[in-house]
Amino acid sequence: MKIGRYDILGPLGRGGMGGVYKVGHRALGRVMALKLLEPHELLSELMGEDKVREAFLREARLMAACDHRNIAAVWDLDEDQGRPFMVLEYLCMNVGTLVGEGRVVENATRVVPPLTALDFVRQTLDGLEYLHGRGIVHLDVKPGNLMLGSDGTIKLIDLGLSRLSGEAWVKPRGLKIGSPYYASPEQEANPEKADERADLYAAGVVLHRLVTGLLPVEGMVDSPLFSTAWRIFFWRALAVDPAARYQNAGSMRDALEEVEAELRQGASNDCVLVEPECAVMGALRSTPVRTGVKPRPFDFLDELYRPLKFHETELEEVADGWLDRCSGLVWGPVSPWPMTWDEGMASVVDDWRMPTVEEVVSLLRPGQGLGEFCHEPFGDRYLWVWTGDRRSYTSAWFVDVGGGAVLAQDRSCRFHVRLVRSA
Ligand code: ATP
Repeated sequence: MKIGRYDILGPLGRGGMGGVYKVGHRALGRVMALKLLEPHELLSELMGEDKVREAFLREARLMAACDHRNIAAVWDLDEDQGRPFMVLEYLCMNVGTLVGEGRVVENATRVVPPLTALDFVRQTLDGLEYLHGRGIVHLDVKPGNLMLGSDGTIKLIDLGLSRLSGEAWVKPRGLKIGSPYYASPEQEANPEKADERADLYAAGVVLHRLVTGLLPVEGMVDSPLFSTAWRIFFWRALAVDPAARYQNAGSMRDALEEVEAELRQGASNDCVLVEPECAVMGALRSTPVRTGVKPRPFDFLDELYRPLKFHETELEEVADGWLDRCSGLVWGPVSPWPMTWDEGMASVVDDWRMPTVEEVVSLLRPGQGLGEFCHEPFGDRYLWVWTGDRRSYTSAWFVDVGGGAVLAQDRSCRFHVRLVRSA
């Protein structure tokens, strides 16, 4: 199947405006994301087909005119059998999938370590500052619209219903703009009146979600993480009255720096010191599996795919890697750059192999701070590491080392690889 000169490789997602597909550009041999105008019936009814089409073309042009590391790049805009499509850089992950925010948005999610959460939101504010500087209010900032590059770069998507200052286009009455819980109170009441500060409110909700796993339904929740600096920050960021909030992305970012400074004083990424005593829970499976797409395929993970228990292991440097004297595994170095699952499999030589989910999880240990994981066995970096276990033909399991969780993604995604062998 083709759309224009792009080969369709599979579906990536669906929104109100259309379907998003993973596509291949044959001549370049590169994977890209293609968004095809296939509006939801309700949207067409409310706006009329012409207006939806206009909004789609406008989104592509608005995004293409942006040149910022925190806004996803648009590479093409064309038509196939009368239906417009845009082609964007392909980004495997978004903050929503990282924490597991699903269709029932009220459900608790995983958290990300506070310093990483601050980094994600700081990058979001950088992207928003750029948009706001160009007179654009995004109006739908939420975890699912914050795509993530393999190196943790945030890329904002979805300018479909954004507002451009001076634009005459008025949205039809009754059309909800934004997402429940993330949209600010004034945006819920009247999206035409919402300004930049509505985006900043949503960024505040995102941060709250990332560090607590919960939405601030009636203001911020009571978390042991929240010191005075955090409380002051959320008190302003989530104020009902826009005049009481941070007034621009820059001042909100400065306030985050204060939270970060306090956090760095108190907590650290250090590993919890454990007695050098082996506590490996049973023999670690070394043969890769294909689990199929079913809920909870690994019984050592909870319903949010986090380990139920941690192993205690000790790594010591040996000639060609690090020996875990508890599990008897020798770990090679972490690949210097991220690679596709297939490239990872192709990098296997001699008796080295891609580790199983169980083997990578055996290296995870909680860190000192709340929500922190010990990065040391992975070189003190926030990484995503492929395993040799597949979920389906097209997807494989990887471990979010910084967030301490197991997730599955398309084989064409680029994550780090760390080979293993038996001692
Ligand atoms: P909404 O109803 O949320 O406004 P929309 O029709 O405007 O949706 P998008 O939010 O742009 O569509 O995309 C829908 C989904 O497609 C996203 O949540 C994401 O999972 C996926 N997607 C979008 N852009 C990309 C991309 N560049 N790379 C990979 N996946 C993407």
